[in-house]
Amino acid sequence: MISLLDDDFSALNEFLTELKPSQLIILADENTHEYCLPQLLVNLETEIPFEIIEIEAGEDLKTIETATHLWEILAEFKTDRNALVINLGGGVITDVGGFVASTYKRGIKFINIPTTLLGMCDASIGGKTGIDHAFLKNIIGTFSQPEKIFFYPKFLKTLPFEELRSGFAEMLKHGLIADEKHWKDLISVTELSADHLEMHINKSMQIKQNVVDIDFKEQNVRKTLNFGHTFGHAFESLFLKKENAIPHGEAVAMGMICETYLSFLQKYISAETSDQIIAALQFYFPYQDISHFSNEEITLLMLNDKKNDSGKIKFSLLETVGKGNFDIEVSEENVIKTLDFYRKLS
Ligand code: NAD
Ligand code: ZN
Repeated sequence: MISLLDDDFSALNEFLTELKPSQLIILADENTHEYCLPQLLVNLETEIPFEIIEIEAGEDLKTIETATHLWEILAEFKTDRNALVINLGGGVITDVGGFVASTYKRGIKFINIPTTLLGMCDASIGGKTGIDHAFLKNIIGTFSQPEKIFFYPKFLKTLPFEELRSGFAEMLKHGLIADEKHWKDLISVTELSADHLEMHINKSMQIKQNVVDIDFKEQNVRKTLNFGHTFGHAFESLFLKKENAIPHGEAVAMGMICETYLSFLQKYISAETSDQIIAALQFYFPYQDISHFSNEEITLLMLNDKKNDSGKIKFSLLETVGKGNFDIEVSEENVIKTLDFYRKLS
């Protein structure tokens, strides 16, 4: 499912020769069009006709309007059911491109070529596609697996530092919930750069793929990937609403600090282990001021999170370093204690 691309993209060319699609539709955003598409085009060795679609960059484009625009273009191109969509971009492109491919003519094939660290280690894997609607993230979508995921770490050389760090947060999460060695390897990285992270990408991708293979529809173990995301999504929404948006991974890192402490309060991990994890996370993700968010608005957002049912907040926490758990009901008292703890880190 996941293949590393060499500089000549030979694995991609071999895949296309075997699949023999009727047409290629390459979807890029303005940045991946500029920084990544030339490398793809120079190596593409195929007689298959192709079209390129470029959309603007950013989460704002993950909408039904974009999907409609793309469906219309596919119809104009007379794209048939044997065509292949190539999603060349970060999570926005793989989410919206996968959604459009999986719904056009009841579904055509697509592959993902993620170009951000978050895209490589997280968003391109697992078959969740989707768009946002009415301020709700990923509220419309499908479970549809790409035919293949090809990754080319050199794409990360042009990625802004904040985006690299955002993806690094999800890699750290993979270590914490599934692989202690991966966690230890990652926290020994002293400089967050494409060169220093490259060797760890494959492992992080495999961890996500393994979890998804066991539980594609998120009935059980896939929920462990939500570690850090209950507090994290609430913080992400509040920053977006009240001031400047922060990258998803930044919010998840704050969420992981909170949910590590909560794992201690729930008596899964010792105070010492909790302190060690939090110190490591803080090295890369310094405190973000949340003093102007009230406990009420944070908990209300967490209650609305799609992971919950019956009015209770359910968490995915740490059982130990390298093992996550899920569906943990937590008292409001412990949620408030956790927020007090985070605020004291300032
Ligand atoms: P993104 O796709 O918006 O990319 C971030 C920025 O980097 C964009 O401006 C983009 O144009 C730019 N960029 C991409 N590749 C580049 C490159 N090689 N060089 C320079 N600039 C480049 O954001 P993201 O962080 O990759 O993904 C976030 C999205 O992924 C969110 O919408 C989130 O909901 C989704 N997501 C989906 C899943 C899933 O399982 N489907 C999982 C996690 C996140
Ligand atoms: Zn995430």
